[in-house]
Amino acid sequence: MKILAIGAHLDDIEIAAGGTLAKAIENGHKIKVLIMSKSGYTNKEGKVQRSDDLAVKEGLNALHTLGIEDIEILDFPTKDIPFASDVVNAIDVRMAKFDPDIIFTHHPFDTHQAHEGVAKATIAAARRKNTLFFYEPIQPSGRSYVAFKPILYVDIEDTIDKKIKSLKCHKSEYNKFGAENWIEGVRCRCGFRGYEIGKKYAEAFEVLRLEMSFDKKCNIL
Ligand SMILES: [Zn+2]
Repeated sequence: MKILAIGAHLDDIEIAAGGTLAKAIENGHKIKVLIMSKSGYTNKEGKVQRSDDLAVKEGLNALHTLGIEDIEILDFPTKDIPFASDVVNAIDVRMAKFDPDIIFTHHPFDTHQAHEGVAKATIAAARRKNTLFFYEPIQPSGRSYVAFKPILYVDIEDTIDKKIKSLKCHKSEYNKFGAENWIEGVRCRCGFRGYEIGKKYAEAFEVLRLEMSFDKKCNIL
């Protein structure tokens, strides 16, 4: 299968779906990651907290740790990625070229405005695509003000270590978000989702659309 994972920022995908994507690669599926911004940012006083160069360097290390090589990073502003035609077009062009069987994107009710914009733009761009999943919002990426419904679960017991290792590549984020507290928050969420399905660790996703297919190309069911 061809899987397209879209994120507003470098680190969103590792937090939400790192174990799932690492597992997909180990099973021979093809992954493309599309990041909408170089992900540097300033604080409220305008002082650089994380430069674009550092975010890209750490983010590429993190994605490589998961085994992902096909990575494209666009140049929309980190904090302002709206649901607008230029964002939809940017996703649309890549989607048409890669022709994914499965698309992952942000939850449309994520509290981060850039995540919300990317979610809605992906939904618009994917109007002709039939299998689309939302990430579970989690701090520090964002939270949801409309309940996230865990519908699709992926057992990540075999890839949780890769996921944690990839998160630790984001050294500047790691320090900002309280070091081990951040990592432990993500790990515990995976433990909770795993417990729900009788596994040690899992990642959960919400389903927007899912095409059921019986051929070998799309064997999700
Ligand atoms: Zn983000």
